[in-house]
Amino acid sequence: MQRERKGPKMASTATATALIDSDIHSTVPNVEALFPYLPRHWIEHVNQSVFKGASTTYYPPRAPIAARPGSAPPDGPAGSSLALLRSQVLDPLGVEIAILNCLYAIDSLHNPEAAVAFARAVNDWQIAEWLEKDDRLRASIVVPVQLPELAAAEIARVGDHPGFVQVLLPVRSEHPYGSRIHRPLWEAIATQHLVAGIHFGGAPGNPPFPSGWPSYYFEEYAGMAQVFQSQLASIISEGVLDLFPTLRIALLESGFTWLPAFMWRFDKEWRNLRRLVPWVKRAPSEYIREHVRLTVQPLDAPPTWRDMERTIAQIDGDHMLLFATDYPHPHGANPLETLLPHLPDTLARKIRSENARDLYGLA
Ligand code: ZN
Repeated sequence: MQRERKGPKMASTATATALIDSDIHSTVPNVEALFPYLPRHWIEHVNQSVFKGASTTYYPPRAPIAARPGSAPPDGPAGSSLALLRSQVLDPLGVEIAILNCLYAIDSLHNPEAAVAFARAVNDWQIAEWLEKDDRLRASIVVPVQLPELAAAEIARVGDHPGFVQVLLPVRSEHPYGSRIHRPLWEAIATQHLVAGIHFGGAPGNPPFPSGWPSYYFEEYAGMAQVFQSQLASIISEGVLDLFPTLRIALLESGFTWLPAFMWRFDKEWRNLRRLVPWVKRAPSEYIREHVRLTVQPLDAPPTWRDMERTIAQIDGDHMLLFATDYPHPHGANPLETLLPHLPDTLARKIRSENARDLYGLA
């Protein structure tokens, strides 16, 4: 699963203690921070109307899962300070490389010109304010995912920047990601040898559940694994991975202990119904093991560590899991304390850094 592209040069620390954090969040502090990167038209629009850019967030600001104590600087929201990211994560944990996922909700903007302009601004802001200030950082390209051809154009515009290793796709989407409407997006990701990072959240305007709108954010948060499952079913059933066989997908902040039962059922029904999708040549679990990786935060852990090892064995997943802190979101369990010390050294090393190094083609 080696990538062809390389990141910026840096000293390799491919040792047993190397640590790669595959899910960290950089937050746009306010719309004014994007002004240096926006066309004059949109600056005037923000200054003269009630439109202030994307105002939706996938995490209600006062929800307990939105921010660790101390992760917000005095003048901005959690995740908006590079200095705090350095002092709270990168330096104390000795992180070699961290992948930034900026959850600016471009998918909530229904004006197409605004969606394109603000996606471009966020990417240029990521380059100037984060990637160029710390060579431990890599980032995901933010795209107007609801406009796949324009998303592809944005990937072509910045995809050659060595700091971008991934395209960020909110797991909640207007159409399932396997749908033909998304082909230009997949083609652009494959052409640029980037990873498709499907992350928790999304604001496409449709309900998060197939059965409709839940009453409480708690339901949406706890039930998000269902949405990840639906995207995997769509991508595999529509033949995206046959059409683009080099594609790699990272499921970010999805949990992973739901995966064994999902793969068993998906394989069983494929045996029953594969004549309906003859282009799906292999059992779905084979596509998942080859193309899909998952971050370990949040850790939906069973009660004993023997069970956890068994879960990883059930998905044949020693090559599939990626360490992540999900900073600044708090999840209670810290994988460095509650997961990795309990696993065999070889497996712990793969989760700490080797699987991510392979996935993202990091030197
Ligand atoms: Zn995350």
